[in-house]
Amino acid sequence: MDVIQIERLEAFYGDMQALFGVSLGLRAGETFALVGANGAGKSTLMRALVGLVRDRRGHIRLGGEELIATSPEQIARAGIALVPEGRQLFASLTVEENLQMGAMNRRRGPWDLEAIYGLFPVLRERRRQMAVTMSGGQQQMVAIGRALMANPRVLLCDELSLGLAPVIVSQIYDSFARIRAEGMSMIIVEQDIERAIAVSDRMACLLHGQVTLRVEDTARVDIDALSAAYFGE
Ligand code: ATP
Repeated sequence: MDVIQIERLEAFYGDMQALFGVSLGLRAGETFALVGANGAGKSTLMRALVGLVRDRRGHIRLGGEELIATSPEQIARAGIALVPEGRQLFASLTVEENLQMGAMNRRRGPWDLEAIYGLFPVLRERRRQMAVTMSGGQQQMVAIGRALMANPRVLLCDELSLGLAPVIVSQIYDSFARIRAEGMSMIIVEQDIERAIAVSDRMACLLHGQVTLRVEDTARVDIDALSAAYFGE
């Protein structure tokens, strides 16, 4: 059974509708990539899944439990964690304090401070440093670690690559092998289509708040079809 079932999801900002009947399923242990142009609705989908876009309709089921009308706190406790676009670390807190903030709605599981420091050793070295004084890549590691501290069943990552050098992005995606080995199911938003294909099992393309293409096996992508779905040609 799918760990998350998203059915006919709609999301609104006031009078503006940003998602139009999005249906997707996430299988246990898979990495699912969402691609799409600027403004396609990728961040809105991520934020709607964790309740940060409150005006939403349709169904979001996690392990069969309906979450469409629940609060961000309840959703965190149910087991969905978001690594937000732009990282959004707490500026007045150290690395370790930022990580501990992720433990507020903690579930039982393999991820704790020791495990995060094992995954990203530089964070142990810098645990007493103010998080926002670190490099962009290290800050992204803190943001991932903070989300993992909740021991989510599903990890959502919104544009991890934003503003980072390709070599740093590769290092961060390399860490996903360890996270996957613990059985994590993931949805990643990625602007870089080649990277999305490389790191995911399946993917979907969004355009104007709708799914325009589903790829059931990223080893067999029709690049022309993907490009048409991406640009709406
Ligand atoms: P990007 O790659 O630029 O982050 P995206 O695919 O994540 O794009 P969204 O940020 O989800 O797209 O935006 C989808 C639509 O919703 C856009 O038309 C955007 O202008 C609009 N939108 C996003 N956030 C808000 C907001 N807080 N209030 C009003 N409209 C918004």
